[in-house]
Amino acid sequence: MTHYVVIGGGIIGSAIARELGLRGTGKVTVLEKESSVGRHASGRNSGVIHSGINQKPGSVKARMCVEGNRRLREYCVKHAVPMQECGTLVVARQESELPVLDKLLAMGRECGVPGLTIIGNSELKEREPLANGKAALFSPTGAVVDSPALLKAVVADAQAQGVRYRYVHRVNGIKGTNISTTQGDINGDYVINCAGLYADKVAHMMGLGREYRIIPFRGEYMEVKNTDIRSMIYQTPDLR
Ligand SMILES: Cc1cc2nc3c(=O)[nH]c(=O)nc-3n(C[C@H](O)[C@H](O)[C@H](O)COP(=O)(O)OP(=O)(O)OC[C@H]3O[C@@H](n4cnc5c(N)ncnc54)[C@H](O)[C@@H]3O)c2cc1C
Repeated sequence: MTHYVVIGGGIIGSAIARELGLRGTGKVTVLEKESSVGRHASGRNSGVIHSGINQKPGSVKARMCVEGNRRLREYCVKHAVPMQECGTLVVARQESELPVLDKLLAMGRECGVPGLTIIGNSELKEREPLANGKAALFSPTGAVVDSPALLKAVVADAQAQGVRYRYVHRVNGIKGTNISTTQGDINGDYVINCAGLYADKVAHMMGLGREYRIIPFRGEYMEVKNTDIRSMIYQTPDLR
């Protein structure tokens, strides 16, 4: 029986493991260095289900984003994962930003993003009383998901398909089909590198991608209490 070994139990590793489990083509093991899932980016992100308004038309990323948005929202409904379908607003604060909204509208429509409209100042005030702008691009399919809950649902789904999770198994060496972990060696016919910010290190263990190095950077969230914000509000991007 083919053995697929997925390194990393974040949303990417777990989604791939789930899909392999659903296809039923072999045994699937996820090796995770932490004692549970969601200790890295997949459990600590903003949870935005992007609608695809700023993707390059015709690109794989645009297609994945638009289709992924629809399928992920369906998945959340089916699996009772908390999600808010609040929509996205890109606000033009100055006249000079209005052409960018038109460009985003055209790009988004070409990518197949449904329901896009440009709303004027008065509709913007109705939707978002605290937002100031000349106009805004409204994308109704932008949504926010509870990302730890999503990961939990995908992991449960994968496990229901027979996928085995091995926690506290840090991969520290790969030679051919032999994977060394902190809990001993494991053999896999296919090794799938889903180690997130450590994916470069895992690739280097395989002798691949030595010219690449991931450079992480830190960001900060601010919490705003008792403020009437109803959707995701973005400033007009610089499309250059
Ligand atoms: C602050 C922030 C906000 C974000 N907001 C959004 C957003 O709103 N919308 C959106 O779509 N995306 C967002 N992202 C991006 C998104 O979170 C990531 O793209 C996604 O979570 C990556 O998933 P992953 O499975 O590749 O990585 P991770 O979640 O990092 O998972 C990798 C896993 O691999 C494990 N691992 C690493 N090395 C080893 C090893 N040697 N052996 C065994 N296991 C190992 C780690 O422990 C980890 O659990 C955001 C990211 C950040 C940081």
